[in-house]
Amino acid sequence: MAVIGIDLGTTNSLGAYWKDGRVQLIPMEGESFLLPSVVGYVEGEGFLAGAAAKERLIPHAGDTAASFKRFMGTAKEYHLGGRAYTPMELSAMILERIKRNAEFYLQEEIEEAVITVPAYFNDKQRSDTRKAAQIAGLKAERLINEPSAAALAYRREYGEEDRTLLVFDFGGGTLDLSYVECFDNVIEIIAVAGDNHLGGDDIDEAVSEYFCRENGLKPEELTRQEQAGLRKRSEEAKCALEKQEEAAMELTVGDRVCRAVLNEERLFEICMPLFGKIKQLFLRILEDADSRVSGIDDLIMVGGSSKLGVVKRFLRELLGKEPIVLGETDKVVAYGAGVYAGIR
Ligand code: ADP
Ligand code: MG
Repeated sequence: MAVIGIDLGTTNSLGAYWKDGRVQLIPMEGESFLLPSVVGYVEGEGFLAGAAAKERLIPHAGDTAASFKRFMGTAKEYHLGGRAYTPMELSAMILERIKRNAEFYLQEEIEEAVITVPAYFNDKQRSDTRKAAQIAGLKAERLINEPSAAALAYRREYGEEDRTLLVFDFGGGTLDLSYVECFDNVIEIIAVAGDNHLGGDDIDEAVSEYFCRENGLKPEELTRQEQAGLRKRSEEAKCALEKQEEAAMELTVGDRVCRAVLNEERLFEICMPLFGKIKQLFLRILEDADSRVSGIDDLIMVGGSSKLGVVKRFLRELLGKEPIVLGETDKVVAYGAGVYAGIR
């Protein structure tokens, strides 16, 4: 019976397992290891989880739920297919999907999982995460904090010496900073700071606004379909900058073809207001940890939005040194969960 590690994210979730002395990720959909944390209901077909549900987010907003992790531990209700579901029940559908994919891929039954949760999750949020696992048919005795998972991944790469780390986890809808001390095989979270509404979605929004400005469009004049298209183009253009200098955007609005070009310089300007907020959080966590920038040995970049060159550039300037990138930033937490599953 295998144990898997799960990064149950606000935007994307991943599964990992330990084999032959190393962590491997579980394929989710096609080539991807990421499962969008989105659940949808389709009349006559039932529930969808993942990319297919994400596609329906804007055109079928009434029957699709996303970002429900933000409300984990609350009684908030999402109405899908004529019934109400809690964040816990929706999370269970994501976990169930990961369990099924893992069983298919590994060809063995999975009964237990190590699930990562934000460091600031309270008892109720943690117990609801455990219950979600239970509904999905998984035992989840151990939950581990996301920054601890990232620190675990860091230690495998950089050794087990005593270190003070700042984990910078910039996801789709949230930014979490954690001040972490590693010593004598203990990983201790000294302070956390964050913003539950600051992430890649805000960058997409800002890029969409830029596109509208460039084309003299008013965002509220777009149809739902056009809005969905613009959001998608904005995210694609942003992500394309990982591999290319600039990205061309094109969208047909009414019968007009609108265009804009996104590059690093533009994106840096577009992100300025977000960077201002990040800097405030950075100063706050240092104050809470009673530390200074010089007290941090390494800053680890985690989360999908940490793939952005402009974010790295901003952090380099803020820190006065090179931040640490452990492979693909959106897989670091899952990787740490996989290491932990290995220890289990
Ligand atoms: P979460 O922890 O919130 O579940 P992730 O860490 O997977 O989510 O981050 C998702 C975010 O990362 C999305 O906003 C997505 O657009 C962004 N992202 C993914 N890949 C890239 C990339 N190559 N460049 C910029 N942003 C990216
Ligand atoms: Mg995450």
